[in-house]
Amino acid sequence: MRRAIADAEVGDDVLDGDPTTRRLEARVAELLGHEAALFFPSGTQANQVALGLHGTPGSEVIVESGAHILHYEQSGAAVLWGLQLRPVSTPDGLLTPELVEPVIRPKAPFYAPTSVLAVENSHNAAGGRVMGREALAALADLARASGLALHLDGARLWNAAAALQVEPAALAALADTVMVSFSKGLGCPVGSCLAGPTDLLGEGIELRRRLGGGMRQSGILTAAALWALDHALPRIGDDHARARRFAETVAAAGAVDVILPDSNIVMMDLRSGSAGAARRALAEAGLLVSIFGPRRLRVVMHWQVTEDDVAWAATTAARVLEDFG
Ligand SMILES: *Cc1c(COP(=O)(O)O)cnc(C)c1O
Repeated sequence: MRRAIADAEVGDDVLDGDPTTRRLEARVAELLGHEAALFFPSGTQANQVALGLHGTPGSEVIVESGAHILHYEQSGAAVLWGLQLRPVSTPDGLLTPELVEPVIRPKAPFYAPTSVLAVENSHNAAGGRVMGREALAALADLARASGLALHLDGARLWNAAAALQVEPAALAALADTVMVSFSKGLGCPVGSCLAGPTDLLGEGIELRRRLGGGMRQSGILTAAALWALDHALPRIGDDHARARRFAETVAAAGAVDVILPDSNIVMMDLRSGSAGAARRALAEAGLLVSIFGPRRLRVVMHWQVTEDDVAWAATTAARVLEDFG
């Protein structure tokens, strides 16, 4: 990847275009079954531009209650676009038409009307939970019938598709716009794409620029993403097998409650002690994990985590977490 970055052919993407970025955008559009795609410096900026394109000020965006758009985007929807987020709680991170339909609001003098439905697949806060194609198609049908735009936060769409053993387009093409990340499981230093209709993304270039996302020799970044599509994407399913092996080893040790993963994220719930103390103890043993709640830890696999790393990490976690059972 470093070599691909060094060798990248570049131009000025704010002025007359960067050839490597053009190539990535065309390739991603095709991979996702959309007309066009635009490269962004972050998934957050791409999600926010999608909301800005779809939502009218004063309207509502329906999200699952653990959604990235709700928790980790600095209230961007409200601050940037005058949109209100309407969280819907689910037991497992998976929105359904039965849960969404009752909260869709029509235009009326006393309501904030609904303009957008945003779905996250896989769902980070739900431990990488994967929504199946039929379930997503049912939400897409509901959105269409209700006059809502459907945005797919697919930071880990690659993982969802691999877990379901379908092409990324089988999921992505169901939505009006889809964001995918290169900086998560694909291991790039920077970047996401937003895919959608050509006309809409023409306006997207303007909103991206407004948010400071116009980039010049962006080919040094998109060369990394192209490399990742060739080398990291085809093997992304390995991360799921590794996550499962990690989860099963730690679960078998019996001290903590492990949520068996659909994809590359493992959540572990401590029965005693704090997540902060467990994180420190694991770090001392050489294993870095994230805190995801007072007693919840999160572990993520990506292509630089090897088989041997996983075997070591799982036995290390099983041993250290005995003190938190
Ligand atoms: C990481 C992430 C994003 C945002 O990506 P950044 O590049 O970190 O801004 C959006 N959605 C989900 C589900 C994510 O996990």
